[in-house]
Amino acid sequence: MNEQEMYKNQKRKIRSTGISWRLFGTLALFVLLVLIVIWIFQIVLLNDFYEESMLEEFSSTDDEIFSNLGNEGAMADAAYKRSVETDTCIILFKVVEGSAEKLANADANMGCILHHLQSDGLARLYSEACANGGVFTQKIESPNENSTAMDSIYVSVRTDSEGQEYILMMDSELVPLRPTVKTLERQFGWIMCILIMGALIIALAISRLICVPIEKMSRSARSLAKGDYSTQFSAVGYREIEELAEALNYATSELAKNDDLQRELIANISHDLRTPLTMIKGYSEVIRDIPGENNPENVQVIIDETERLTELVNDMLDLSKIRSGTRKPEMETLNLTETVRTVLVRYEKLTERDGYDISFEAGEEVYVTADRTMLLQVIYNLINNALNYTGEDKKVSIVQSVWDNKVRISVIDTGEGIAPEDIPYIWDRYYKVDKVHKRAKIGTGLGLSIVKGILEAHSAPYGVESEIGKGSNFWFEMETFRSADDNTLEL
Ligand code: ADP
Repeated sequence: MNEQEMYKNQKRKIRSTGISWRLFGTLALFVLLVLIVIWIFQIVLLNDFYEESMLEEFSSTDDEIFSNLGNEGAMADAAYKRSVETDTCIILFKVVEGSAEKLANADANMGCILHHLQSDGLARLYSEACANGGVFTQKIESPNENSTAMDSIYVSVRTDSEGQEYILMMDSELVPLRPTVKTLERQFGWIMCILIMGALIIALAISRLICVPIEKMSRSARSLAKGDYSTQFSAVGYREIEELAEALNYATSELAKNDDLQRELIANISHDLRTPLTMIKGYSEVIRDIPGENNPENVQVIIDETERLTELVNDMLDLSKIRSGTRKPEMETLNLTETVRTVLVRYEKLTERDGYDISFEAGEEVYVTADRTMLLQVIYNLINNALNYTGEDKKVSIVQSVWDNKVRISVIDTGEGIAPEDIPYIWDRYYKVDKVHKRAKIGTGLGLSIVKGILEAHSAPYGVESEIGKGSNFWFEMETFRSADDNTLEL
């Protein structure tokens, strides 16, 4: 099965609901929830709320009138005022020698039950209030047989500081709520239809806004999958999708670069392997075919080229082992300063013969925990590069600087330097700043990627500071001990 068929199969397997239906479902659920809440409050509990608020109003009138307890004129005035404000019938009595004398009689509602009660009815309300701790409420049906009206009655009995008793009676008509509830119920059906339709329209609009750019992007992704690195992800509409498009464009450009690098890598490896092989073949044929050419110089060329080939193959193996994690660092405590010196010994001949000026500044001996062979290779590769790329003065300085519990080794040359835009890539396999792949004088073109692999395996920071025309400073840092016996870190 090829990749395209696999993709199609995968696509067929996707059975999840689309964004518009999900949105619609969520919105419809929300609408239903809101309607249920409104239904409960507006219709089911309407009567309870209505009666509750009426009782609250009675109670506040009671408080207001009796806030003037003892001052009969003020109490009567308050009773008339509240009667008008709250559309309530109010009668205020003063108990004098076993009988009740009216202080105020406000009749706000002509049909009020309170005003139609006989004195025995009023006396019953009074005794109910006394038995109830001073306040009594009751719903009463109209005594008129032709009327279905209901009134809410509130009775309050209070005594002032001098023992004078007052009775406050209030009556408010309970407006029948059934017609209101019926109207609301009818409206509810309509409201529900309109809101559900609205939810559907909103869900469709939002999902269009979200889906159109996503669909555009999946089209682009499909063409990218087919290997078209010129694909551009463009999406407008909202921030997240624009960010995604930007990230995908970045990923595409990186993939394209990687693809180029891969191709370049194969070309370079083939070139580097072919050159020594061609030389070996050529020289061997010359030695075989031309009498007298079997001299030590020609044989030396074959040996040199074989060595170079071995070196190249070893580097490639090293790199692939480090990259794949097969070659793990075997940590030991070692003298870093001494290790640098060991590498420098290898270059003594070069210094004498070609006039290179290699200096090493180290204030003290520092110890680090590292894999000795790997560390040697890092230092060797960095110095090698510095020698390859240094300027006319052939100067290379190695500086060891120590602070806190850290040591930094810097390998500084006076060469051409590296352009800032090339710096991120020089650590890649076979990346060449000048792009023309020429055989390295000493290195194999894999040097910095090996350095990177080793230092990353040691979790050691590394980097380069470079200025065009002035030179480069390749550095790495490690945690250090001050002496070989001191196994504890100085913090
Ligand atoms: P090479 O064998 O080509 O030196 P490396 O991996 O060691 O391979 O380096 C990669 C690239 O980084 C080099 O081709 C070169 O362009 C650049 N480079 C490395 N070291 C230096 C340096 N000291 N000065 C300038 N350029 C450097």
